[in-house]
Amino acid sequence: MDIKDVKNIAVIGAGNMGHQIAMSCALHGYKTVCSDINEDILKKAESFVDNYLPGRVKKGKLTEEQAKQARDNIRFTSSMEEAAKDADYVIEAVIEVLDLKRKIFADLDRIAPSHAILATNSSFIVSSKIADATGRPEKICNLHFFNPALVMKLVEVVQGPHTSDETVEISMALCHNLEKVPVHLKKEVEGFLLNRIIRAINHEALWLLDMGVAEAEDIDKACMYGAGHPMGPFRLNDLTGIDLSYTMAMETFKRTGDPAHRPSPSIVERYMKGEYGEKTGKGFYDYTKKDK
Ligand code: NAD
Repeated sequence: MDIKDVKNIAVIGAGNMGHQIAMSCALHGYKTVCSDINEDILKKAESFVDNYLPGRVKKGKLTEEQAKQARDNIRFTSSMEEAAKDADYVIEAVIEVLDLKRKIFADLDRIAPSHAILATNSSFIVSSKIADATGRPEKICNLHFFNPALVMKLVEVVQGPHTSDETVEISMALCHNLEKVPVHLKKEVEGFLLNRIIRAINHEALWLLDMGVAEAEDIDKACMYGAGHPMGPFRLNDLTGIDLSYTMAMETFKRTGDPAHRPSPSIVERYMKGEYGEKTGKGFYDYTKKDK
C-alpha cells in the first residue's frame, strides 16, 4: 500500500480534535466520515462545518467551488461501522481512556478493510498499549495533531516497536497532503516531543520563580527577548489556564509517579485561590488593572 491508495478517511470522535481533523482531511480532498456516540456533539460538529466553510469563502481563503467540494467530502454519523467500513486510514480521537481506546481498536480491526492503517490521536497513550488489541499491529501508530487541529501545523508521527516503516511513510505522506508539518518519533516516549519540551521550559521557569530568583514578568521577558518565544511561560499559563496546568501536572504525576512532575508551589497556590489566569482576572499577572 502507498499514499495514493488512501482516499477514504474515518475519524472516530467528533469532539475538540476530531471534527477539526475531519474538516482538514475533507478540505484536502479526502472522502471523510466522522463518527461520535454523542448526537449533540455530532450536531455541533456539523454546524461548525456549515459555518466554517462559508467563513473561509468570505475571507477569500477558499473559492465557492472548493468549499462545496469540501462540504461534499465530509459526513457525520453515529455509527462507527458506517464511518470505518470503507476507510483506508482511520484516525481515532475519542476521550483519553485506555480501555475505551482498546475496545474501539478491536472493533475497528473487525470493521475496517484489512489494508487500513489505524492511528490514534492520543496525546499520552502510546500505540503499543493498543496495538495488541488488533490483528494488525504493524498498521497501528500515534498520529498526534495539536489544538486547534485546523490551524496548528505540527503533527507527531510516533512509531512503536510494532509499527512498520510503511505505516510511518504513509502517515508522514498523509500529513504532507494535509499541508501539515509531520515529525517522526522513532521511539515511543511519554509526552512525545513538543509537550516534553514545553513541560521542561515550564518546569525550569516555575523553579526559578519558586526559588525567588526572578519575578514572573522578568522570566517571561527572558524567554521572549532572549529566545524569541512569542510569549513567556507565565503569560502562556495565564492564557491557557492555571487550573489546566494544575490538572495536567497532577495527571502526569499520577502516570509517571515522578515527584518532579507534581505541580509547583506557585501553581498550587494560585489553583487553591481560584486564580486561574486571564479567565478569572488574576493569575501570574493581574488583569483587573487596566494598564496590564
Ligand atoms: P473531547 O472530549 O473533546 O472529544 C472526545 C469525543 O469522543 C467526544 O465527543 C465523545 O462523545 C467521543 N466518544 C467517546 N466515546 C466514543 C465512542 N465509543 N465512539 C465514538 N466517539 C466517542 O476530546 P478531545 O480534546 O477531542 O481529545 C480527543 C483525543 O485527542 C484524546 O485522546 C486526546 O488525548 C487527544 N488530543 C487532545 C488535544 C487537545 O488539546 N484537546 C490535543 C491533541 C490530542
